[in-house]
Amino acid sequence: MTIRTPPRNGFEAHVPLVVVGAGAAGFCAALAAHELGVELMILERDSLPRGSTALSAGLIPAAGTRFQTAIGINDNPAAFAADLKRKAHDQADPALVDLVARQAGPTVEWLADRYDLPFSVVDDFDYPGHSARRMHGLPSRSGVELIDRLRQAADAFEIPVIANAVVSGLFVDAGRAVRGVEITRPDATRDALGCEALTLACNGYGGAPDLVARYIPEMRHATYFGHPGNRGDAVLWGGELGAKLDHMSGYQGHGSVAHPHGILISWAVVMEGGFQVNQNGERFSDESLGYSEQAAVVLAQPGCIAFDIFDERIAAIARQFADFRQAEELGAIIEAPTLAFLAERLNVPPPALAQSLAEIEEARHTGCPDRFGRRFAGEASLAPPFKAVKVTGALFHTQGGLAVDGAARVIDTSGKPLPKLFAAGGAAAGVSGPRASGYLSGNGLLTATVLGRIAGQAAAAAVKQKPPAST
Ligand SMILES: Cc1cc2nc3c(=O)[nH]c(=O)nc-3n(C[C@H](O)[C@H](O)[C@H](O)COP(=O)(O)OP(=O)(O)OC[C@H]3O[C@@H](n4cnc5c(N)ncnc54)[C@H](O)[C@@H]3O)c2cc1C
Repeated sequence: MTIRTPPRNGFEAHVPLVVVGAGAAGFCAALAAHELGVELMILERDSLPRGSTALSAGLIPAAGTRFQTAIGINDNPAAFAADLKRKAHDQADPALVDLVARQAGPTVEWLADRYDLPFSVVDDFDYPGHSARRMHGLPSRSGVELIDRLRQAADAFEIPVIANAVVSGLFVDAGRAVRGVEITRPDATRDALGCEALTLACNGYGGAPDLVARYIPEMRHATYFGHPGNRGDAVLWGGELGAKLDHMSGYQGHGSVAHPHGILISWAVVMEGGFQVNQNGERFSDESLGYSEQAAVVLAQPGCIAFDIFDERIAAIARQFADFRQAEELGAIIEAPTLAFLAERLNVPPPALAQSLAEIEEARHTGCPDRFGRRFAGEASLAPPFKAVKVTGALFHTQGGLAVDGAARVIDTSGKPLPKLFAAGGAAAGVSGPRASGYLSGNGLLTATVLGRIAGQAAAAAVKQKPPAST
């Protein structure tokens, strides 16, 4: 079952607010609702909350924060909103973009001040499309640390997180108001839990191959690198309820996943002056446009493979990421004293690799864009020892989802909010528009944390029968 009328005999238990999914969005929603004094429960399918949040680098973009000010970065929400709109080719909902750009700073500071998350700004390289250094991360620069710290914050306030609880359907009344959820346990037993408001924080449909094939055909054969439990439940339920689904073809890909190790290699290796070649040793694109759109570009190369080429200076920057350090430990990063040796070790034609680097040096020297339009002027030349890693493209997470308004209320196809139903993070339509190239670095956790917090506040207000929170 997915959508059903409430059980005749009533519910086995009742809680005012249910949050489905214990990722960044679910925890932010829960913490925010709890602050407003509402009793709630998070339902999570896994035994330990992880989600795609744990797979991420845990970086949240935010503008005008005190963390930026402390290190002399001049930034503001308007500039951030402009970057988001430009990257999304002006196809994202402008009101939603303005809202998340405005609320990102206060949300990061809220997590830092109220829940002791020790953020700092990644200040040693630029993310594509961001006009300021505004990615905020935790010391390990890993999503595992982010989700663990969020879970610890929820534990500290005794917010119940019910694990091994798959929400398998919704109970909805004749007025389309959600009255409860069905929970399926690992032993297939089912419970009906009543609620007054529901926040969907169960991410998107990357883990549902049929939905990926339907909505994102270019990624139907790609490796899905996100959490497998994200199977599109929010959009399936919402669709049945008449919710509006937006930007279903949008997604975050990544063109730099170590192969066959399956480890994310930070795009710093490219943005700091590195580049990609294919198995023929040839460049094939302007890598600086963004890592998301690069997934399909890499997958279009022979063998669906590319090599990131960089050097020790760049590796030292990438080493701040736990993923990169792990890739080094596992031997995914290849090193050689000369480019010719590197080519041999990669099994690519040495003359072609030398030609690729020579073209880049030419662009660096002249200051003109290279034949793909990428500029290298002002960047340091690569120096021996050279480094490389074999990579492929992957689907990280979907960016389409339930259309929401400024209070994270799910809206229907006529633009009206569905009663007491909220969505955040990957369950909601994001701010990337309908294409992979619309994804600005950090858009995933941006809407998970910011919309999560807003959804929690608004759901708490709805439970208390107050008008939804306006932000
Ligand atoms: C490798 C990788 C790197 C990334 N790096 C970044 C980054 O640095 N910055 C950034 O902004 N974004 C990044 N992203 C994207 C980011 O991880 C996601 O956008 C974000 O984590 C989404 O948060 P969420 O809370 O919506 O979903 P999740 O963290 O996936 O949480 C959803 C939870 O819902 C649970 N669930 C699903 N269905 C049900 C159900 N029916 N019943 C009960 N529980 C259910 C799942 O088990 C899961 O725990 C990355 C993604 C990947 C895969």
